[in-house]
Amino acid sequence: MSTPDSPSPLSADDIAAITGNLDEVADRARAAAESSGRSGDDVRVLLATKTQPAEKIRVALEHGFTLIGENKVQEITGKAEALADLNPETHLIGPLQRNKVNHTLRHAQCIQSVDNLPLAEKINNRLDVLDETVDYFIQVNTSREDSKFGVAPEDAEELITATRELGRMRLRGLMTIGLPGSSPEEIRPSYSDLRELSEKLRESGVMPAEATELSMGMSGDFELAIAEGATMVRVGSSIFGARDYS
Ligand SMILES: *Cc1c(COP(=O)(O)O)cnc(C)c1O
Repeated sequence: MSTPDSPSPLSADDIAAITGNLDEVADRARAAAESSGRSGDDVRVLLATKTQPAEKIRVALEHGFTLIGENKVQEITGKAEALADLNPETHLIGPLQRNKVNHTLRHAQCIQSVDNLPLAEKINNRLDVLDETVDYFIQVNTSREDSKFGVAPEDAEELITATRELGRMRLRGLMTIGLPGSSPEEIRPSYSDLRELSEKLRESGVMPAEATELSMGMSGDFELAIAEGATMVRVGSSIFGARDYS
């Protein structure tokens, strides 16, 4: 927390707004988990921090949140260095180009956007060089619309099988992004489809039994996503306010 001796670009009101939002999102996530018969501890809130300055993210980490999701590799580097003392768990949640893999592995502990084999091979090759491992999710396009990102549900099995054979990456589960601009009820099937796909792939052994994570749900629909089984919701604007892309 800032003190009079350590000037912060954030006002006390800014800080209070963020911590108030954090408490509210945590309460709503817990209530949604409990009303679907799960424990609040079964759902983690990932802070979607794109465009947000490190000072704001610091407030959230000091408030007890530990999980950050960045969309752009370029944004991760500076912020990871600024926040290193708080040791957050950093996930990449945006698309990853193969030429940015080395950079990403320097600062992210998990890549949620693996959706093609050449990318997975590039990650695995780099991990061989580093003699390291990384966690990952397979991003699935369950929105039944043309989208550049995410493997089609019917192709997920083949991609997962091939990626697991590479050997260095640890699969934690599946991730999806609801179609932007849709109503919660239009989004719901894409979340229930992801849950059903995960169950099917674990029952058949395509995914390991422990790869239970379902990363789905954002500010506008995270309670719905939790009702459909989300274990991780990615929340940005409800916590930090509207993004400034200027
Ligand atoms: C920005 C973003 C979010 C969070 O969106 P909000 O509506 O601000 O909560 C979640 N997931 C991904 C992949 C994002 O890019």
